[in-house]
Amino acid sequence: MRLKIINDFDIQKQARELGVSVWQTPSFLFFVMGIVIIIAMTAVYSISKYYDSPEILIMTESGVVISLFIVGNFIIRNIEIMAISNKVKSEFVSVASHQLKTPLSEVSWKLELLMAKYSQGLTEKQHEILDSVNKSNDKMKRLVNDLLDVARIEQSNFYLGSESVDLNKIVEEAAVDYRDLARAKGVEIEVSTDRFLPSFQGDQRKLELMVGNLVSNAVKYMNKKGKVRIVSNFNPSKKQVQVCVEDNGVGIPDSQQKKIFEKFFRSDNVVKYQTEGTGLGLYIAKNIADKSGGDLWFESKENVGSKFCFILPVK
Ligand code: ADP
Repeated sequence: MRLKIINDFDIQKQARELGVSVWQTPSFLFFVMGIVIIIAMTAVYSISKYYDSPEILIMTESGVVISLFIVGNFIIRNIEIMAISNKVKSEFVSVASHQLKTPLSEVSWKLELLMAKYSQGLTEKQHEILDSVNKSNDKMKRLVNDLLDVARIEQSNFYLGSESVDLNKIVEEAAVDYRDLARAKGVEIEVSTDRFLPSFQGDQRKLELMVGNLVSNAVKYMNKKGKVRIVSNFNPSKKQVQVCVEDNGVGIPDSQQKKIFEKFFRSDNVVKYQTEGTGLGLYIAKNIADKSGGDLWFESKENVGSKFCFILPVK
């Protein structure tokens, strides 16, 4: 509790995070406002005590109101500037990502065409190069899609579709998708699905994204041989489906757990050895779970492992 209050008033940290100077941070401005109010009250009190004149009192009070109005206006202006720059930044990300999407898709089509039509004449080395170009292109497409989702979330344009979803199938497919990567790291993926899990209305692509992210993280953040367990369940009384992805990997340090669903956040213990990652996956996943009327949460212990679970309502 004490730490939280100190943290809230760490003005320099807030300035760094917001990218503004110290005197422009909301905490500093509210602090100034508080001081001005205290000084103004004391001044009005003293003046009313020493001068028994209603004119002087009215003038002092008017002065107080004007200075409060000036400081208040200054605070509002600064908050407005921050809100506008945040909006401009989201729009820039959205436009840039849209513009990148078309050429990236074009590269994909051309590569597919090249592989389908002319692959027989290529040497093994040329195949390897094409394969690596294809993988890099896929990575960029995923990043662009993530950035577009982030921009949509920030602009309140993040909508979910509604179609019949078979969550067990999504879980099984995610396990297949990451099995090769897991095998290469000496990680076993075990799937246990509830055969009574009903299909329900949801956004198939977004749920694939969420499950894929949890499974890929569980495999990615394993620095030794280990096991990833994916379990699905149905709770008929609450009409909820639940999926948990558990690993015995590097875990998340206690001090950083509260930041895990913030965008671009990556914990210190993983950035040292796993350079691949943007810190966007869980931010998007949390939004998908929330927007679906469900929830996403986790338990984790550094050097022991993590368990990420989500529930979704069955409508
Ligand atoms: P990314 O994996 O691209 O960095 P995410 O948003 O998916 O982005 O995850 C954010 C951060 O949360 C990761 O960088 C890592 O620090 C931590 N994290 C997520 N899942 C796990 C996990 N299963 N084990 C340990 N740390 C994890």
